[in-house]
Amino acid sequence: MHIDTLAVQTLRHHEHGAVVPPVHLASTFALDPATGEGPYAYQRGGNPTRAALETVLAALDGASHGFAFATGMAATAAVFETLRSGDVVVLPTSVYGGTYRFVERLLPARGITARYVDDLSALTDDDLPERTRMVFVETPANPTLRITDLRRVAELAHRHGALLVVDNTFMTPVLQRPLELGADIVVQSATKYLGGHSDLLAGVVTTDDPALAETLALAQKAGGGVLAPQDSFRLIQSIKTLPLRLGRQQDNAVAIAAHLRSHEGIAAVLTPGSASEEEARVHAEQAAGPGAVLSFRLAPGLDRVRFLRALNLPAYAVSLGGVESLICHPATMTHEAMTPEARDRAGITDDLLRLSVGIERVDDLIADLDQALAAAR
Ligand SMILES: *Cc1c(COP(=O)(O)O)cnc(C)c1O
Repeated sequence: MHIDTLAVQTLRHHEHGAVVPPVHLASTFALDPATGEGPYAYQRGGNPTRAALETVLAALDGASHGFAFATGMAATAAVFETLRSGDVVVLPTSVYGGTYRFVERLLPARGITARYVDDLSALTDDDLPERTRMVFVETPANPTLRITDLRRVAELAHRHGALLVVDNTFMTPVLQRPLELGADIVVQSATKYLGGHSDLLAGVVTTDDPALAETLALAQKAGGGVLAPQDSFRLIQSIKTLPLRLGRQQDNAVAIAAHLRSHEGIAAVLTPGSASEEEARVHAEQAAGPGAVLSFRLAPGLDRVRFLRALNLPAYAVSLGGVESLICHPATMTHEAMTPEARDRAGITDDLLRLSVGIERVDDLIADLDQALAAAR
């Protein structure tokens, strides 16, 4: 079945003929005194509402196992539980700031070291030190929208006995299914497109590998960063409109990118594949569309703060993926933790802004951007 249908129809036939699943709030479940067993025992270990959500999450990614966490970072933390002392993780310099913080501040004490690479698309055997156990990829990269060839990196990682983990937050399974391209684990911040309304924090991990699934299930239960039943229900509900929302957001983003490219107040527009013909080809092969995040550079002479203050529609805020447009300044917000040199190398310069496009009427968004660009002169 198509993902549009799976998003709506994966869960069926609930008690009393209800067409949506119930919210089970119980923290504990009665057990059979003879065996001490039951379908569920204690909410942290599993509950019917979270299990329903996890069925949907697995279906969307075409995975055998799905896990729901309280935040995207709780999901990422569980993925790093698959590493052991002495292991090396390879990741891009421009990796999501929270992931960078986790890797820099928490992994060293566990004896796990990180090797950063500026350009994952140019990854070679020499970039993978001995004992590389994981390659962690975001494609498109944030906020440069640079593309990594997932099939190529999966093959490279596997040749070194390493796992490929893909943070698929920007694409969602609607646009890109990394497990089908060779990834071992997919992680997502469901706070972004899956939740979609900027009112819910959640994280997702999926895998097809039974041994990895066992470790992830243990990390979920023992670590305890699980998603609550009410939020599990809300995510089930939001996912039903994910393909619709993202489709509209993507159409809007494509129109805005085209408009900005011909605007004299804009020096550059960054979208997936805009960096090179090769990246455009790879993205077209591995993803079903550009998504709805774009970045742009203001032309020299335009004042960034005046531009941002003049905007009436996109709020100046971190995060992305919601129905409302948001704009942020990566150099001082999302990528502030990077060293200035690393930011420069990654192209995350002071003039770069990132726009998460919402579902508003695109003419209104374009008119707002135009008047703010005029005000920024
Ligand atoms: C937001 C985000 C995360 C972290 O998710 P939280 O839900 O905020 O914990 C991880 N990766 C990417 C790409 C993100 O955008």
